[in-house]
Amino acid sequence: MTADRAGVVVVGAGIAGVACASELARAGIPVEVRERARVTGGRMASKRFDGRPADLGAAYFTVDDPDFAAVVAGWQAAGLAREWTDTLVAYGPRGRERVIGPVRWAAPRGLRSLVEHLAAEVAVTHDRLVMTVEPGPRVDGRGAEAVVLAMPGPQAALLLDPALAEATRAVAAQRWSSALTGVLRFPSRRWADFRGAFVNDHPVLSLVCDDGDRRGDGAPVLVAHTTPEFAAGHLRQPTAARPEIEQAVRDLLGLPEPAEATHVHRWTYARPAGTVAGAATHHLDADGIGLAGDAFGRPRVQSAWRSGRDLGRALAARLG
Ligand SMILES: Cc1cc2nc3c(=O)[nH]c(=O)nc-3n(C[C@H](O)[C@H](O)[C@H](O)COP(=O)(O)OP(=O)(O)OC[C@H]3O[C@@H](n4cnc5c(N)ncnc54)[C@H](O)[C@@H]3O)c2cc1C
Repeated sequence: MTADRAGVVVVGAGIAGVACASELARAGIPVEVRERARVTGGRMASKRFDGRPADLGAAYFTVDDPDFAAVVAGWQAAGLAREWTDTLVAYGPRGRERVIGPVRWAAPRGLRSLVEHLAAEVAVTHDRLVMTVEPGPRVDGRGAEAVVLAMPGPQAALLLDPALAEATRAVAAQRWSSALTGVLRFPSRRWADFRGAFVNDHPVLSLVCDDGDRRGDGAPVLVAHTTPEFAAGHLRQPTAARPEIEQAVRDLLGLPEPAEATHVHRWTYARPAGTVAGAATHHLDADGIGLAGDAFGRPRVQSAWRSGRDLGRALAARLG
């Protein structure tokens, strides 16, 4: 940020925050992103196990917005994104069925690499937990031209001074559900080809993906997402859910041997439960507070990107 201009502070380096900051930077508005984690990416999270990244958050993404398609084409040209499949399976009361849908995209180096690529032109400060956003607006006691909170509503609610009434109301309107992700590493690939499976009416699982297949390296790694209900019962001690998740995956796919190692990740705020009323792609109020993320659309990567991009444009028009 320049000394003569406070600029915009974006809190959160998920895809929404980064898309917003890139738009502002392109418009010549000073902008700084503050992220509490050590890395960029948010829920497009990839964690390394023995040097190989596995996707812990979003399982894949789909594209139907022409502007987002242009961003994805850039990732593809850089070798970062690949078309994975349009065919998954679904397990349910009627057994196993093939499900054909839109093309699902994946990232050979993990989905986080896509957000990092988008953030190339943006100053992101990591390990920077923002504690307060007050009228002014002020972030942790320092003034800014505007503040963007690009994160799940309940996380934004922790920062917002109640005197910022409009934004406080907007985040309070959001409802979120939880999920646990299990990363199961096996000695070898002992499952029949299935790419990814939606799991319906199951007490533990909602989705299981073949991480080696989607990432293209054939590694014997499965990534399972639990139902919100199962996660809600294990938020205090997510690692205690490890045996149940592993057994559920083995039973579903008929795997004779146990996993070599299973890692469990907790997402207290995994997905918004329902879209924010009014169908706006973002919130921007007279107090100079902006909100962006996947609560302003379907709970998808594309919606989060569009929300951040649109908020960035709106702020650039206001401040430019
Ligand atoms: C288990 C799971 C499965 C999913 N599956 C899919 C899928 O298959 N397809 C799909 O399209 N989408 C999927 N999603 C949703 C997708 O991941 C999100 O829509 C998208 O990543 C949201 O991006 P965001 O930038 O809005 O929020 P986030 O990625 O959550 O970014 C918010 C950022 O703010 C930071 N932050 C929070 N509080 C503070 C603070 N006080 N100070 C500083 N930084 C802070 C956080 O650390 C985080 O990095 C899934 C999500 C989960 C969790």
